[in-house]
Amino acid sequence: MKRVEEDAQPDHPWPPVASWNAFRRSLPIRSFRWHECVVHANMAGMRMIVTGVGDAFSVQSFGSSSVVEAPTGLVAIDCPGHALAMYDAASRGSGVPIRVDRIDDILLTHLHGDHSNGLEAIGFMRRFLGDAPRRPRVHALPEVIDRLWEKLAPGMDGNGNGLEDYFDPMPLEPGKPRRVAGLEVECRRARHSIPTAGFLIADDAGSIGWSGDTEFEQAHIDWLSQASIIVHECGEQFKHTAWTELDGLPEAVKARVRLIHIPDGTTTPEGPMRPLAQGEILEP
Ligand SMILES: [Zn+2]
Repeated sequence: MKRVEEDAQPDHPWPPVASWNAFRRSLPIRSFRWHECVVHANMAGMRMIVTGVGDAFSVQSFGSSSVVEAPTGLVAIDCPGHALAMYDAASRGSGVPIRVDRIDDILLTHLHGDHSNGLEAIGFMRRFLGDAPRRPRVHALPEVIDRLWEKLAPGMDGNGNGLEDYFDPMPLEPGKPRRVAGLEVECRRARHSIPTAGFLIADDAGSIGWSGDTEFEQAHIDWLSQASIIVHECGEQFKHTAWTELDGLPEAVKARVRLIHIPDGTTTPEGPMRPLAQGEILEP
């Protein structure tokens, strides 16, 4: 039988207790909740896990959406249908666990189904399936909040329930930044077929601009260009932005653009504006 040396290291991936603090200091994270085995935002700042890249008609991808790992929780950007399967796939693809009970904030761009159809499942799950029900806050333009229950009510208004039984509605006015889970969030109205917003999301280390669904608008690009990374939608249909329109931007802007919402089967030309992939992590 092989003799085990007294100073042999245990055969598991974690360090001995004596070096635990040094190990923690070496981690690229702000906080580590050992009991949940959940890693919070990394020390370099927020990071965005791309959860869906498809458009409304995609048979290959989930609806365009992301989850931002913030200092005090997870912030979802939009919530398309099949959200639970989407978060599971993104968790496995990115290696970052996306737990619905940690999504206390949802930034909702607009009410098209490929951006909002998952809210019913999230609302039910957070109210009835968790150990400690908490209503996720929904941050959106006032005109989006005004009609949110009109969309959700037929599936959720049993026993007289209302929107505020499931969600904490937080109307967000353009030009008035708000702290969300330790991040600064600002919105701007986009040009789409229904009320829609884009978002700027920032922390001390960097920022990400999220166009939302929009036709090409230079003023929207200029506003998004405050960010170090610009996630811009790209589609050929009515009230969306064509690749050729984005290709006309200055090289310095295109170098910061990543594309999302691209229709199935569409190949974008070579260039600095690369399509995002589900499970990809963006760190501004
Ligand atoms: Zn849309």
